[in-house]
Amino acid sequence: MSATTPTPELHQMGVAELGAALHARQTSATEVAQHLLARAHAHSGLGAYLALNEEATLAQAAAADARLAAGERGPLLGVPLAHKDVLVTRDFPTSAGSKMLQGYRSPFDATVVARLAAEGAVTLGKLNCDEFAMGSGNDQSAFGPAHNPWDVARVPGGSSGGSAVAVAARLAPAATGTDTGGSIRQPASFCGITGIKPSYGRCSRYGLVAYASSLDQAGPMARSALDCALLLTAMAGPDPDRDSTSLEHPPEDYTRLLGQPWPGASAAQPLQGLRIGLPREFFGTGCDADVLAAVRSALSECERLGATLLDIDLPRTELAIPAYYIIAPAEASSNLSRYDGVRYGHRAAEYADLLEMYKRSRSEAFGPEVQRRILLGTYVLSHGYYDAYYLKAQQIRRLIAQDFQSAFSHCDLIAGPVAPSVAWAIGAKTADPLSAYLADIYTLPASLAGLPGLSLPAGFGAAAMPVGLQLIGNYLSEARLLQVAHQLQLVSDWHTRMPPPLTPSCPGTRP
Ligand code: GLN
Repeated sequence: MSATTPTPELHQMGVAELGAALHARQTSATEVAQHLLARAHAHSGLGAYLALNEEATLAQAAAADARLAAGERGPLLGVPLAHKDVLVTRDFPTSAGSKMLQGYRSPFDATVVARLAAEGAVTLGKLNCDEFAMGSGNDQSAFGPAHNPWDVARVPGGSSGGSAVAVAARLAPAATGTDTGGSIRQPASFCGITGIKPSYGRCSRYGLVAYASSLDQAGPMARSALDCALLLTAMAGPDPDRDSTSLEHPPEDYTRLLGQPWPGASAAQPLQGLRIGLPREFFGTGCDADVLAAVRSALSECERLGATLLDIDLPRTELAIPAYYIIAPAEASSNLSRYDGVRYGHRAAEYADLLEMYKRSRSEAFGPEVQRRILLGTYVLSHGYYDAYYLKAQQIRRLIAQDFQSAFSHCDLIAGPVAPSVAWAIGAKTADPLSAYLADIYTLPASLAGLPGLSLPAGFGAAAMPVGLQLIGNYLSEARLLQVAHQLQLVSDWHTRMPPPLTPSCPGTRP
């Protein structure tokens, strides 16, 4: 750094910047980890973390420092990260935001966790989330809400709410999240950060506490597309021995297209030739005007960079909500049947017989939203209703995927809002689950189709709250999504904006 450029404080630095500072030995993994752990404690009122283990973090940091001292280099070596609490970890408990798994300690690391650790990333802790990733506001966590750092009275989005809070509030340079129906993209949008849900199967689900197995996908959340690309490069790749649904596609370097113009474009107009489809269904009356205005202004930036915008149709968009809210609960009811109080998880203290032990254990430890979904899922899978609901939903899912394929014959990417509004007040939708389900309308279609989707900051809407722009690509086009997002971030500064200074005294439930 030159004498005129002040060194940013360690928590201000993103993944790439920290990696460079660690390589240059301007700081050490231990110093960065200590700084961020102190920050996590100072801002525990945000409810971002569910578990810290200082000893484990500092041991990982010391190991990274030893590798750096030995001359080893790598973009994540010594860089601290935190994981959503649905990814199992050996060194930290994994609760999935539920009393059912409170205190549970996995004997192994999830594949994405292990891959990041192999690159030398240091785990700071485990992040708050909706119980079993079921929710849109982090208000369904059994351990209290997480608070949006832009306005602590509002939700950070969900279910990866703690991940978005940690990154936006500069408690961690990046975090992992998982997205079943929007849980990476929507909290990224609500908290003004960047997040990408990869194509289904791109990241292994081994060690990801199952919610809806045909939809669940892990991905990175960070401040910029560049930082997401660095994480995703480590996280993605086949895992044939542990997740048979992981794609055989070889590992990729997701940073390789960053800064490159779109094929055939010039450096002056780097997005020339890129056709961005705008689904009419995403820009209609269901979306708040402030959100649409921000999204449109980000899109005109893309136009300025040479991209062409064209209207397209995704005619089954509305059907994504009923289809998803049948398929996801159906899979959840089956996946969550493993929590029977016998092998692991909560067991009721008193019961007369086996059946009562099951009933009590599950009634005591599952929260209301999880119970609602188990009931719904069991119902739609039951004999007599299976064809009417579950099978129909699967047929609609196929049609939604086909609509995307027809759209991609006219355009390279699809863009639109991530959510129809900015973040709402904590509690505003807790008692009205349907209103929360409806707010998933723009993220569910890509989830059902298994397509990659990225959310990046696109300015501010009502009450000066962040708004995200969603980019959806065809299968395995993550590198292209990141390329376009990066081009936009080279000419805009929405992703660098900081939430107002935090008061450590904000209300919330502590780990
Ligand atoms: N809000 C959606 C749900 O509650 C999505 C959650 C997710 O992606 N994990 O199911």
